[in-house]
Amino acid sequence: MSETKQKIWLSPPHLSGEETVLLRDAIDSNWIAPLGPHVDAFEREFSEEIGLSATAVSSGTAALHLSLLLANVQPGDEVLTSSWTFAATANAITYCGATPVFLDSDRATWNLDPQLLEEELESLASRGGRAKLPRAVVVVDLYGQCADYDAICQICDRFEVTLIEDAAESLGATFRGRNAGYFGHLSIFSFNGNKIITTSGGGMLCAHDARLCERAKFLATQARDPAPHYQHSHIGYNYRMSNLLAAVGRAQLRVLEARVAKRRANYAYYHEALRDLEAIEFMPEIEGGVSTRWLTCLTLNPAKTTCDRETLRIRLLEDENVETRPLWKPMHLQPVFSQMRRRVTGVSGELFDRGLCLPSGSSLTQADQERVVRRIRQILLK
Ligand SMILES: *Cc1c(COP(=O)(O)O)cnc(C)c1O
Repeated sequence: MSETKQKIWLSPPHLSGEETVLLRDAIDSNWIAPLGPHVDAFEREFSEEIGLSATAVSSGTAALHLSLLLANVQPGDEVLTSSWTFAATANAITYCGATPVFLDSDRATWNLDPQLLEEELESLASRGGRAKLPRAVVVVDLYGQCADYDAICQICDRFEVTLIEDAAESLGATFRGRNAGYFGHLSIFSFNGNKIITTSGGGMLCAHDARLCERAKFLATQARDPAPHYQHSHIGYNYRMSNLLAAVGRAQLRVLEARVAKRRANYAYYHEALRDLEAIEFMPEIEGGVSTRWLTCLTLNPAKTTCDRETLRIRLLEDENVETRPLWKPMHLQPVFSQMRRRVTGVSGELFDRGLCLPSGSSLTQADQERVVRRIRQILLK
């Protein structure tokens, strides 16, 4: 049955058409390298868009790794981070030889619970004063929405801890009129194929302080000292973005606003069409913030339906060829991080058990959305 129905993907890439023009320019100019005029232009245009200095790199994960190095995270350190995230956030911490400490989410934002951050920092400070405090906290802006930076920035300032903002999923979001990425001393974005704009693979490291972005560029190009020969005084990385992919990124950046508007419209449609179903609750939008609704996320209330998340997911796939995904599985529940310290309330674990991401691409049609909604209603109202 399902083979006959056209697949509806969760969040496929969505090209504007201008990519081929800029790509052809990159190819014709023979700049086929991890540097070049499109990389410079992409950084400049991104920087103007976001209002921060920017260094283009090969992935969001590379940007995270570099930002932790710039925060001077050392082997043996602990770094506090959101438990509810994609594994890349925690993996990057381990690349520095450091250990992640996982903090749970709050119900109002689904992002890091500021109270747990404060409790953890107070507990570390009371045991050992400044020496016990972490060098960095990595806060994640999940599913297109900023965390509660009113509280988080104040807490990080009070304890003088470097705040790194993982905004990989939230390019285009705002909080209190500021762009996602503004709140960290360092912040990162991803242009992976499923993100709101894409270069197939790629990332951006941003900072208020342009010197940090210069330093990131140095580390990302094998840390070459200024000399005519190859001279090195530091360990470097090969993390720069290709000029070809930067050409794609420039075309994508030009349609970011339209992509945000479409993703928000996707959410508005789902919300309107399903709001009468008591079993369904949608991800709340943080007060003072505008989410991009990168993915439309819902949870099933077990008091109101006997259908669980996996049943809904599998039936959408098998009956209707619709790809959905469970919400992220929190890092404190991942086998690879089972030994790590954590401060958990159970919020993210519950969201994982109950939650599903619906098809949310910016190329989704009205007919696609009608198909998804009709089937969800059939499954839940049967
Ligand atoms: C996608 C993502 C990353 C990693 O970005 P890549 O470009 O895929 O390396 C990091 N953090 C979060 C929260 C993400 O969703």
